[in-house]
Amino acid sequence: MKELENYIIKYGKVVSDDILKVDNFLNHKIDIKLIKKMAECWYDEFKNKGVNKILTIEASGIALATMVADRFNVNLVFAKKSKTTNMSNNLYQAKVFSFTHQVENVISVDKKYLNKEDKILIIDDFLANGEAVSGLINLAKQAEAEVVGVGIAIEKGFQKAGDKLRSEGINLKSLAIIDRMDPLNSEIIFRK
Ligand code: 5GP
Repeated sequence: MKELENYIIKYGKVVSDDILKVDNFLNHKIDIKLIKKMAECWYDEFKNKGVNKILTIEASGIALATMVADRFNVNLVFAKKSKTTNMSNNLYQAKVFSFTHQVENVISVDKKYLNKEDKILIIDDFLANGEAVSGLINLAKQAEAEVVGVGIAIEKGFQKAGDKLRSEGINLKSLAIIDRMDPLNSEIIFRK
């Protein structure tokens, strides 16, 4: 998606070899016009797949996934990263190693919110090592739901999770794929 690439070039900050900051439009301030257009791209891609639920992980995926759920006119479920006292014990759970915080989280979804009739579209902001997406796929599998696709805003192609998921037959649609980035001169190279 050319417009997303332009935003990344204009506002993205290459923090290190493998971390990109996009607080200006996606992770802190959220550009509503942009994420509406992103939702439209995923709608075009997956509209014939019978999607009846959007699944994401807290926190940064939620705003984006809400817009996508609105476009598909379906509900959104987000996996929680910590178990709160008012949560049920009837949970699907999976371990996910957080790329940005470098800690292992147990993510969970209440069993009543995922079920075997579901055709799920997973949405997240970044794809790095694929931990978050694999954890969400794991939760869907436990519920015997079908994952019909995965929509990612920014895939860091050099971290290989995208190539792995595609080789496993996952229908993955990333709106921008970065093949290389350099913190010294802030260079960002996109996959053609
Ligand atoms: P993965 O689980 O694929 O290793 O990492 C994806 C998750 O880590 C995303 O949910 C995202 O929140 C976070 N993440 C990974 N790489 C980046 C990055 O370069 N910048 C930011 N802001 N978040 C990232």
